[in-house]
Order: sequence, then C-alpha cells, then structure tokens
Amino acid sequence: MQTTTSAGPREHDRALATEAVHAGRDDLAALGVHAVPLDLSTTYPSYDSRGEAARIDAFAATGEQIQGPPVYARLDNPTTARFETALARLEGTDSAVAFASGMAALSACLLARVAEGLRHVVAVRPLYGCSDHLLTAGLLGTEVTWTDPAGIADAIRADTGLVIVETPANPTLAEVDLRAVAYSCGAVPLLVDNTFATPVLQRPAESGASIVLHSATKYLGGHGDVLGGVVACHEDFARRLRHVRFATGGVLHPLAGYLLLRGLATLPVRMRAASATAAELAERLAADPRVAAVHYPRIGGAMVSFEVRGDPHAVIGAVRLITPAVSLGSVDSLILHPASISHRIVGEEDRHGAGVGDRLLRMSVGLEDAGDLWRDLDTALAASVTATADAAAVAEC
Ligand SMILES: *Cc1c(COP(=O)(O)O)cnc(C)c1O
Repeated sequence: MQTTTSAGPREHDRALATEAVHAGRDDLAALGVHAVPLDLSTTYPSYDSRGEAARIDAFAATGEQIQGPPVYARLDNPTTARFETALARLEGTDSAVAFASGMAALSACLLARVAEGLRHVVAVRPLYGCSDHLLTAGLLGTEVTWTDPAGIADAIRADTGLVIVETPANPTLAEVDLRAVAYSCGAVPLLVDNTFATPVLQRPAESGASIVLHSATKYLGGHGDVLGGVVACHEDFARRLRHVRFATGGVLHPLAGYLLLRGLATLPVRMRAASATAAELAERLAADPRVAAVHYPRIGGAMVSFEVRGDPHAVIGAVRLITPAVSLGSVDSLILHPASISHRIVGEEDRHGAGVGDRLLRMSVGLEDAGDLWRDLDTALAASVTATADAAAVAEC
C-alpha cells in the first residue's frame, strides 16, 4: 500500500453540509426514487456461472469492489455501499469500508497488517477501553508498544504495521497534533480514530493520516439505535480490508447501512448544535466549585469530561434527564464513569497513567436545551457533595 502520503484528495469540492445530504445518493433521481432503497437480500440470482467465476476471481485477486450486480451479502451490499461512498466523501478519502462495529473495523485493520507480516503496533494512550484491551491482550497476534506522541518515531520497528492514535481521546479528550504525529510515522500508516471529532470537526486524512476509523455507532448513526464501524482510507488498503471482511464476516447489516447513511445527512447540524451546548456546559462546570477540573477539546465537539471533588458515583445515581449509560453520540445526553465501565478493562495502573482518574466523568452532550441539562447536572453535583459529606460523617463515628 501507499503509506507515505495522506489518504488522497477530496474528489468533489462540494461543501461538507451538501455532501452530507447528497453523497451516496447521486443516482436516486435516475432510479425514479427519492428515499434510499434498502436491499435486504442475502443472495442474488445469476444464470451465468461462468461470469460469476470471473467476477469472484477478480475480487479474490484484488479485493476490488465487485462490479455489476451483488453476489452474496458477505461480499457486498448496495445499501451499505452508499454509506461507504458517502463517508469516504466526507472524510476526503478514496474509499471507505464498513463493518459490523467499530471493534470489527479496528480488528480488520490489524489483521490486514498482520497478514503482511507487520504485527507490531505503536499506540498512544488513552484509547477507547476495548481498543486498548484488544492491543494489550494481543488477541489478533499483534504486539503493542505504548508511547506518547513524542516517542512514536523511536518506537517504530521494521515490523511496525500501524501507528494508532485517538484524538480527541476517549475519555480524557486529550488531543494530539496530527500533522506532527503523521510526520513521526514516516512510511508507517497512521490510523486515527476520529469517532469523537467526526469529519465535521476534523478530517485526519488532510493532516497526513492514512487510515481514519469510526465507531459509526456513535455520531455517524447519531440516534443510539445502530451498531457499526467504518474505515476511510486509500483504495489499496480498502481492498485488503474488503478481503478481510469477506473472509472473517464482520459485515455491517444493510439496515444499519441504511440508518448510518440517514444519520450522515444530519451529522453537521447535530454536531454543531451539540457542540455549542457542550461548550456552554464546559464553561459552567469550570466555574463550579464542586468540579475540580474540566476537559474540553480545543477543536470543540459534543463531549465534555470533568473531575468532581465529591463522589462521582453519586452523580451517576442522581441524573434524571441525562441517561447514565455507556456509549455516546446520540441525540440525547449520556453520562458515564469511565473507570467503572468503558475503561474498566484497562488495568488500573495503565488507566491512571493515561489520565483516566477515579473521579472522572464523561458526558456526551445531546440536543436538549442547555438550561435543562445544567439543572440536571446541578442537582447531580449537589448529590456528589452530600454523598461525600455523608461518607465523611460515617467515617468519623
Ligand atoms: C465506541 C468506540 C469504539 C468501538 O466501537 P463499537 O462500535 O462499540 O465497536 C472505538 N473507538 C472509540 C473512540 C469509541 O468511542
């Protein structure tokens, strides 16, 4: 694969907001429909088995998207292909390949490199808890070196297949300088998990990333009702990913592809609205004496993390409008204690080393009114103080 350059220029110069509602739908008017057709077929009839043999040979040899009618739903699906086209357009890459989940997408990237004999990965903490776990456990035969951005160049070996960073990172919202990191990677492809920023706030391919990964479950879907993952990259790496996907089966369901394409249409509007509310809440939290620290990314976004002085579990127990739940990126607000849930699987020492403290809370800000959200947080913060005072009183007895 081509590893030294960014993932390719944007083919079209339409603005992101326009692409969000039109990409992947260019043929609809010619088809005489307005909504995207949802194709749930697992298989497709063909009376020409010689022709099928040639098409399967072509796919096996190159991993190139099957031309002509689909063959089997594990190979390709026209509804999912629309989502892939649209996401590639938004990220400004040649191609995109969709998977059953964000973790299936990351697994495919790792397997594609392992298959080439490149089993070493350089990664920067924090990453999403399960990504950290997948690398630390070496489940796919990879070996990881954890480092900070400044240590990347020194950590790279002859068998390094990927450098992995997440920015803003889950759950601390720590940011890395993508251009500087891409430079440090040299010829090794840089994989950026862009789940938190989305292409609305940041297009890593423009900063030199070769591979842009999303848990589509989060902002791309945007409504908390679809699980998916997607990798935006050069067509040559996309071919390897399609091969892995075909061979291992981590495909996105067509209904999920339909919902993700639908989610993309409102992504810019949702991101901007939720980011404005998140910025306002971050300011209010920073001014609040019950809060010890607030983390809000320089590039903005709809995630806010904060450390409470009192009991973080009491905050989780006391919210009523905000839902205490894992995941993020939905139209409604969610709050989570990362040390208990999303990053529980990361060892305590590594967790603390990555800045994921025991009093840290992560909030995914939705589209509710900022005043209503603040009232809920205010009540929950009061509960965190009461709980700590009660605990202190018990300790004194
Ligand atoms: C949720 C998440 C993932 C994993 O995605 P799934 O769709 O849950 O498999 C990966 N990276 C980040 C940053 C995430 O938040």
